[in-house]
Amino acid sequence: MTEINPDIVIVGSGVGGSAVAHQLAGSGARILILERGDFLPKEPQNSDADAVFIQSRYRTKDIWQDSEGCHFRPGQYYFVGGHTKFYGTAMFRFRERDFDENQLDDGISPGWPFSYDELEPYYTMAEELFGVRGQAGDDPTEPVRSGAYPHAAIPHEPIIANLANGLSRQGLHPFKMPSAIDFGTNGTCRRCGTCDAFACRFDAKGDAETKLLRPTLRHADVTLWKSAQVMRLIPDENGQRIVAAEVLRGGERLRVKAPLFILSAGAINSALILLRSKTHNMPEGLANRSGVVGRYLMNHHLTGLMGIWPFTHNKTRFPKTMSVNDFYNGLPGDPMARGNIQMLGNISGPMISSVFPQIPKVAANWLGRHSVDFLAMSEDPPNRESRVLALEDGGVQVSYRPRGIKEHDRFVNHVKKTLRQVGFPMVIRHRFGIESPSHQCGTVRMGYNPNKSALNDLCQAHSHPNLFVVDAGFFPSSAALNPALTVAAQALRVGANLRSRWRNDMLMN
Ligand SMILES: Cc1cc2nc3c(=O)[nH]c(=O)nc-3n(C[C@H](O)[C@H](O)[C@H](O)COP(=O)(O)OP(=O)(O)OC[C@H]3O[C@@H](n4cnc5c(N)ncnc54)[C@H](O)[C@@H]3O)c2cc1C
Repeated sequence: MTEINPDIVIVGSGVGGSAVAHQLAGSGARILILERGDFLPKEPQNSDADAVFIQSRYRTKDIWQDSEGCHFRPGQYYFVGGHTKFYGTAMFRFRERDFDENQLDDGISPGWPFSYDELEPYYTMAEELFGVRGQAGDDPTEPVRSGAYPHAAIPHEPIIANLANGLSRQGLHPFKMPSAIDFGTNGTCRRCGTCDAFACRFDAKGDAETKLLRPTLRHADVTLWKSAQVMRLIPDENGQRIVAAEVLRGGERLRVKAPLFILSAGAINSALILLRSKTHNMPEGLANRSGVVGRYLMNHHLTGLMGIWPFTHNKTRFPKTMSVNDFYNGLPGDPMARGNIQMLGNISGPMISSVFPQIPKVAANWLGRHSVDFLAMSEDPPNRESRVLALEDGGVQVSYRPRGIKEHDRFVNHVKKTLRQVGFPMVIRHRFGIESPSHQCGTVRMGYNPNKSALNDLCQAHSHPNLFVVDAGFFPSSAALNPALTVAAQALRVGANLRSRWRNDMLMN
């Protein structure tokens, strides 16, 4: 470590960590990225549904417990590039009103400490970096954009095109879903039919590793330590500044010192690191004078819907080309029942078996072949009692108490009715819970008020000037759209700000 002697330590190489590293690379600062996982191996099992869903080959072996003390193996993936190695590539901007305080039936969706306009240039930059494909102007709720998408939208395959027509006939406005896939004549996407929840061994998926980290590592001043797990951060005597990270690497416990620390271990793990860094002066953990760290865990309300066509074999290879936002601000006469509808990746037999082991394999495979798959997503309003706890024995408790479920259910009922109207005689639904914390956010929230938030609008800890948190933990609210582009945009914004001032900044001294 003496040879590296970093100026900046970044914990985690997911979207947040890689985006901030991308902005800081070449600034003259020596950057060390500490990543718990290894590189994801490129192997045939990447796209093998049995390996991924039945054998859970890539899922962490860590076991967590819920509020009742029941143990579960969470849908967490620890690899260089973070969760985007498995993500579905839907790259949405949040809407203008998602940044405002909104009243919900079941609580308040708090405002963000900045408006959409502040993030717009960084959304543009993030779309460019990830190579997002989309078509501006079709989505009725689309926020103001300063330009077109960097690449043309991915065209629908025939079944999705027919569905889009059917939905239009219902008076809806289906639009081309923005997606980060290297698709097209010279693109690397082979339309293998596995994408969402699988890793791509052809690097066709615009993930944090391929699009942000790899180019960043070309800078001589940026070093990645893989398989290096940060256990806690260590503050100085008076608890003001962070002086070191305690790292488990190759069976050894090391201390890595630096003037500046940027935490981006994912919403749940960043909260755990802060909570585990408690000292006798700060028994509540770091950055936690307000008591919010680990609280307000959100994950979106996500329901998968399988529209079954008994006489049609769905041969679509890449279905994730369509989305519907007509109900983003509410159903007619029921403004609180709202959300986004988007295509899911192909649901196959092994995926069905992993959730419903009681269904015979042959039936699961049949359903997989005959289904067209959708995702209904609603905002998960923040609840102080939804929390992550670092247990004294080293264990992890996730006590999730979601709000707004009734509203989500009404929305899903409406989506189901709509799908029947476009011709599916049967629609099967399944709600994903916190055992799949795929859209986890909110555990280290930003805000103006240091008594009610951990971070300021630039993700700097209110109580430690040399600590930043740039993963989805900073979200004050979750909106009802996929989170990755917003994590990237804010981390790019934070990185730009740090880059402009790091040399003379008192943070570093
Ligand atoms: C199956 C699936 C599908 C998804 N589909 C979409 C989609 O289509 N669109 C979308 O916008 N979002 C999607 N998401 C969500 C999206 O992937 C996440 O919102 C995003 O990746 C979060 O980025 P992050 O930087 O906050 O955290 P992460 O991606 O979780 O990155 C955190 C990093 O920190 C590392 N780490 C953890 N603990 C430690 C530690 N103690 N020390 C060192 N390193 C550590 C992890 O290994 C990881 O690399 C999906 C997620 C999943 C799982």
